[in-house]
Amino acid sequence: MLRELGVEATLVRRESELSAVDGLIIPGGESSVMDKLARMFALDGPLRARIRSGMPVFGTCAGLIMLANNVLDAIDGQESLGGLDVDVRRNAFGAQVDSFEVGVMAPAIAETPLAAAFIRAPVVERVGDGVEVLARLNDGRVVGVRQGNVVGISFHPEVAGDTRVHEYFVRLVADFVASSKSALPA
Ligand code: GLN
Repeated sequence: MLRELGVEATLVRRESELSAVDGLIIPGGESSVMDKLARMFALDGPLRARIRSGMPVFGTCAGLIMLANNVLDAIDGQESLGGLDVDVRRNAFGAQVDSFEVGVMAPAIAETPLAAAFIRAPVVERVGDGVEVLARLNDGRVVGVRQGNVVGISFHPEVAGDTRVHEYFVRLVADFVASSKSALPA
């Protein structure tokens, strides 16, 4: 998705790779496994530090779970990185076979509904004071949030090839890079 938008993209598996990027996408997958691997490879501390320092981070599905301060229906011992003052419930829409595609309204991101695939997707059940709701389902359930430079969505826009959330995130990263550069002494 990033390369389609003309953005240089690289995989981040180690601390040195994390240090080299201006922004991070935590993709879908399985949050309990991501959590285990992040801790096993000692990436959790550096990730938390970069998130705290204001680096833009975008989590989709399992990535949203990793960014939630509080995870409901987590497996035993599962931790998250945090960054978003929200409660997120895992697997809120049922199993893999209950996957579905639907249009999601996200007025801050796009004028027309986003093409969204929900695959064992989480839902946001509580939104803290500093958190902006970005996207909702027609029934009002929250499926997209932002707090500062941290963005999380329940769904996969890449399945249907909708690039608009990624474009929104890339603008955030560009603004962050521009403001960090202007903060440097001349
Ligand atoms: N259910 C998965 C989890 O708990 C998320 C699924 C996904 O990323 N599509 O991490």
